[in-house]
Amino acid sequence: MPAVRIVLVNTSHPGNIGAAARAMKNMGLAELSLVEPQSFPSAEATARASGADDLLAGAQVCATLAEALRDCTLVIGASARNRTLPVPMLDPRASAALVAEQPSDSRVAVVFGRERTGLTNAELDRCHYLVRIPANPAYPSLNIAAAVQVIAYELRLAADSAPARQESRHRFATAEEMERFYQHLEETLLALEFLDADNPRQLMRRLRRLFGRARPNENEVNILRGILTAVGRRCR
Ligand code: SAH
Repeated sequence: MPAVRIVLVNTSHPGNIGAAARAMKNMGLAELSLVEPQSFPSAEATARASGADDLLAGAQVCATLAEALRDCTLVIGASARNRTLPVPMLDPRASAALVAEQPSDSRVAVVFGRERTGLTNAELDRCHYLVRIPANPAYPSLNIAAAVQVIAYELRLAADSAPARQESRHRFATAEEMERFYQHLEETLLALEFLDADNPRQLMRRLRRLFGRARPNENEVNILRGILTAVGRRCR
């Protein structure tokens, strides 16, 4: 089983952060990242966490989602909506099975959105998969801590039955390495005038999908970056 980080994006209610921490600790998860929490630390979060205030004390507060994901090699976004995005949608059991088969020396993030508006498209662009908890179609949106509970429970079940796995020889690229690659790719495509800064359309989003699907390892990303560097030299 890899390390699992629960990431809560821009949560409004500190009580929800506390309740999510409690749900995590019950299921044996320990890594919590908070991206731009609206109120944290907070007495209400601590009260709702009950005996899980150690998770709150250890929570990492991040200014951006990129920072919370930087060392993760698999990113799963939790979404209540049936999105029309071309990102594969899993149910909680399938997502937990996917997590359980990741190398034990890697780190996975599960990202939860805002209480009112969920995750933005730009945030979903950073996810390899989406997970949706099957629910009443007329009322599908769970309280965020309840959603964390369901996902964490499935991760617990999957971890309990997962065989011990070996470490990977070539690890998948981390989110941070992929962001640097996308930056480099964008600069190169601009220099080539393949990408028009005034009319970028969906090009970078589509390329993110493509490379996200391929999930290159660190070696492969280095090859791609080497190609971009060679192209950049020729352009100049
Ligand atoms: N109105 C928002 C719902 C936000 S609920 C929307 O339409 O997106 C807050 C967060 O809890 C969501 O962003 C998601 O991460 C999680 N969540 C709530 N219900 C869920 C469900 N049925 N499946 C998966 N995640 C869910």
